[in-house]
Amino acid sequence: MSERPLIGRLAPSPTGKQHLGNARTFLIAWLSCRSRGGEVLLRVEDIDSPRVKPEATQQIFDDLRWLGLTWDGTPELQTHRLPIYEAYLRRLQERELVYPCTCTRSDILAAASAPHLEHEGPAYPGTCAGRNVSDARSLDRPYAWRFRVSESSTFEDGFLGETFIDLEKVGGDFVVWKSANAPAYQLAVVVDDALQGVTEVVRGDDLVPSTPRQLLLYRAFGWEAPRFVHVPLVVGPDGGRLAKRHGDARLSAFRDRGMASETLLGWLAWSCGWLKEPTPVSAEELIPRFDLRRVPKAAWVLSAEDLGRIS
Ligand code: GLU
Ligand code: ZN
Repeated sequence: MSERPLIGRLAPSPTGKQHLGNARTFLIAWLSCRSRGGEVLLRVEDIDSPRVKPEATQQIFDDLRWLGLTWDGTPELQTHRLPIYEAYLRRLQERELVYPCTCTRSDILAAASAPHLEHEGPAYPGTCAGRNVSDARSLDRPYAWRFRVSESSTFEDGFLGETFIDLEKVGGDFVVWKSANAPAYQLAVVVDDALQGVTEVVRGDDLVPSTPRQLLLYRAFGWEAPRFVHVPLVVGPDGGRLAKRHGDARLSAFRDRGMASETLLGWLAWSCGWLKEPTPVSAEELIPRFDLRRVPKAAWVLSAEDLGRIS
């Protein structure tokens, strides 16, 4: 591998308020880079209409500033980059690596977003795989573009180690373009990470099944893939995402209560094994304490009661 400068990124989706689980992943991503002198970029993944909430982008900036998670350069907004994604879709079309799919399945509708926990649909059975790119011209229905999945793959994850994902099991041919002007998450994230020179992607482990798809796109474009690091999530007692019934884990709620971000960061750092007690600490102060190997392998389970103790 060539020596590329270390560049990480925070890539939030402004589909709602960022919560404690997002903050924990961002903290790990940020410290992983900062502790080795790397740059951290901020990219707002706002192509996911209609789920994107206009006020949520400003909240992301406010939340990250509150946490002290600084970024380098100007934040990128994916909605400003549509012609770029389109150009790369064309490259895939030129090589017949994609085909038009007219299935009106919910996974096409959902393809603009990262398939988080509980959002991986059933495998696509390849209904439209017999089509060529040029067949799109004679279609009288709306269509998406699907990437032809050639094989399953193994990758070396910076936290999980060697990871094998059977692509057939996680969805088969996947959507790279949803409809007119609507790139899908998998294409946008790869194009952005590659063009922005990102060499390390730290994100929640519910996105592990996306990684082999993204690796296929890196290969198709002839790009060197970043190091992928998937870290455990924060979950409710039922093992699912933190939900309202588990209490209010939104960062804005902590902030509105007048909590200092150092208090929350202390709990996050404690949950990651970097502090013996959840005592207040700043993001900067955590830089020398960062150690990915100390992060517990299991998700951090938070009950409403636990959440109430974070104060
Ligand atoms: N924007 C995605 C999300 O917040 C994250 C994608 C990624 O890190 O690859 O769900
Ligand atoms: Zn189809």
